[in-house]
Amino acid sequence: MKILANDGIDPIGKKLLEEAGFIVDTENIPQAELAEKLHAYDAITVRSATKVRKDLIDAVPSLKLIGRGGVGMDNIDVDYARSKGLAVVNTPASSSLSVAELVFAHLFTGVRFLHDSNRKMPVTGGSKFNDLKKAYAKGIELRGKKIGIIGFGRIGRETAKVALGLGMEVLAFDVYDFPTSLELTLAGGITVSVPVQKAAFDELISQSDFISLHIPFLDKPILGEEEFSKMKKGVGVVNCSRGGTIDENALLDALDSGQVAFAGLDVFDNEPTPLGELLIHPKVSLTPHIGASTNEAQERIGTELASLIIEFFSD
Ligand code: NAD
Repeated sequence: MKILANDGIDPIGKKLLEEAGFIVDTENIPQAELAEKLHAYDAITVRSATKVRKDLIDAVPSLKLIGRGGVGMDNIDVDYARSKGLAVVNTPASSSLSVAELVFAHLFTGVRFLHDSNRKMPVTGGSKFNDLKKAYAKGIELRGKKIGIIGFGRIGRETAKVALGLGMEVLAFDVYDFPTSLELTLAGGITVSVPVQKAAFDELISQSDFISLHIPFLDKPILGEEEFSKMKKGVGVVNCSRGGTIDENALLDALDSGQVAFAGLDVFDNEPTPLGELLIHPKVSLTPHIGASTNEAQERIGTELASLIIEFFSD
């Protein structure tokens, strides 16, 4: 059996597959050549870069499995593949904690101005140093503050656990029902049950000190001009979910008016090119869609993907 790991796979996943007798190629074949070269393989694994669309699926009828390392399957025609008898698998939970931790990297950055101070630290110190000391003097702590989590699935819940561990209060909103207490595992393996407050959407946006989005891509932004106007003045907003879930122009207006104190964005409308105004904005911390990009998440993704492939071909 031959597997093409076209967007790469963690060495642990590759080793597991090879130990189970698979041949794994990690050559990155350009999209335009895939239809011709994929015939030599029984399965393909991708991350977000390689597209597995209807035309590719039709061109390679011998393909048996498509594996996505990670959550979003936007780059795969999943229903069509399944209708043609292909197995399509992904590893949805493997990166949840890494994304949740990135939310807090953005939150700590926002409340202590790290993104802006990194840009502006003077080489020579002197009066500029003292000006910056004054400019960044009004930091705030996260403990005791309310974080509103919109979308209480895998990542929303991991985010809540980190927040609860920091002594924050959690308000959660989802279109589906969810449990109102979470099991928190502390150092030493001690587990405690901690409460989460369910909130209506308007209640969440008007009462939260910070708002974090953890929803899929929707037809239109969930946060726009009207929603920003209902938020607490000085709220911090973080988006590590999907581009298009925030109206970016409305966000810029809200940042400029002071309604929103800062925004942390891992995802944008026009990836991979964020709006110029976001790039240079002193109240915006940006990361290039790296929520799942930790060594630990990639190891978990590789391991889980390898087990799913081994299980499928051993049936
Ligand atoms: P999930 O499916 O476990 O959770 C999503 C939740 O959103 C579900 O509970 C769903 O009911 C809820 N939801 C859907 N529409 C909603 C709405 N209109 N209002 C409120 N809630 C709504 O997904 P997940 O694994 O937690 O992932 C969440 C998001 O994060 C996805 O968009 C995913 O693609 C993205 N993600 C980003 C990165 C990154 O690198 N930044 C990495 C992994 C996942």
